[in-house]
Amino acid sequence: MKEIIKKMAREQILKVNPYQPGKPIEEVKRELGLSQVIKLASNENSLGPSPKAVAAVKTAAEQINRYPDGGCFYLKQKLSKKLGVNPSNLILGNGSDEVIIFCLRAFIDPGDEIVIARPTFLVYNISGVVSGAEVVQIPMKDFRYDLKAMKEAIGPKTKAVFIANPDNPVGCYVTRSELDDFFDKLKDDVIVFIDEAYFEFAQDLDDYPHSLSYLNKKNVIITRTFSKAYGLSGLRIGYGIATEAMIDCLNRVREPFNVNSLAQAAALAALDDHEYLNKSIQMVAEGKDYLYAEFKRLGLKYLKSAANFIVVDLETETRPVFEQMLAQGLIIRDMGVWGLKTFIRVTIGKPEENKKFIEILEKIRNQMQGDK
Ligand code: PMP
Repeated sequence: MKEIIKKMAREQILKVNPYQPGKPIEEVKRELGLSQVIKLASNENSLGPSPKAVAAVKTAAEQINRYPDGGCFYLKQKLSKKLGVNPSNLILGNGSDEVIIFCLRAFIDPGDEIVIARPTFLVYNISGVVSGAEVVQIPMKDFRYDLKAMKEAIGPKTKAVFIANPDNPVGCYVTRSELDDFFDKLKDDVIVFIDEAYFEFAQDLDDYPHSLSYLNKKNVIITRTFSKAYGLSGLRIGYGIATEAMIDCLNRVREPFNVNSLAQAAALAALDDHEYLNKSIQMVAEGKDYLYAEFKRLGLKYLKSAANFIVVDLETETRPVFEQMLAQGLIIRDMGVWGLKTFIRVTIGKPEENKKFIEILEKIRNQMQGDK
């Protein structure tokens, strides 16, 4: 039976390495007999959701017998004012993940190429392979995008280039002048997908590009999300910004009711909660300074991050460190899946969570050094 299913499945999907979800926090607690678990593994917002968003969800819950507004009318109106674009330049997704999938679904024919960095956000590769694309991976240089090499990799079959800015997992960013150079004399029939999931955390950088300025000059799709700085990961809502012609193509591959009504209500309320947004950004900025200083004190190499997480080189295989941390109620990300076996990625949490992480990290390191 198993063999028959494999024969029936599309050849492309058998090439996919399925995404391995972690266990739910409640299950980790139960299995390990822990009363508290701190999760700093998925670049979520540790502040908890905006109270305004929670109130809006409660109100919207009264109407969940109805389908959501498939056009996300009010949200597009609000976002268009905020961004200075037309509602017709916007598409909402079940997470910004979904906009990535729309792009590939709408533009990739089997055998087309996409160009991505290595390492980068895993969804580009997974969804690229599913849609039949040849995924060309260009290694980073010193943990930064090598845009020159990425541009050189663009050939007659290249349909799209994906730039996560800031990038996940390493937290680096592409500067305005680097992006200008990349766009200079770039051929017209290539989509540049600029994924700005961590946009809000990069706003204090002077040379962070103003991606919207490319909107009518190049084939760009810019994505942002409510999952990170706005604290709505669990509702799954993000959006894409592009020319009307591009949005029209993306809409053709979108399910009619792809964004649920609770997510739309929460996002509308979250856009008005400036206090919450500022608090998230400040928490991340302060947590980053604290963690940088602690890594320095511990003599650990880390990568400067423009996002809400930091990558640290522990100079030892990190899978056992991950297991030991888990046993003590702390979930971080070991980076084996990206081939970075001595690195971990830690999401910046609340001050007490960051402190606990450092305490546990230091204890494990001391034990390891003692064992040597
Ligand atoms: N892009 C990048 C670079 C990410 O790290 C993430 C989330 N981990 C996403 C997109 C997707 O976010 P969401 O689907 O929650 O909007």
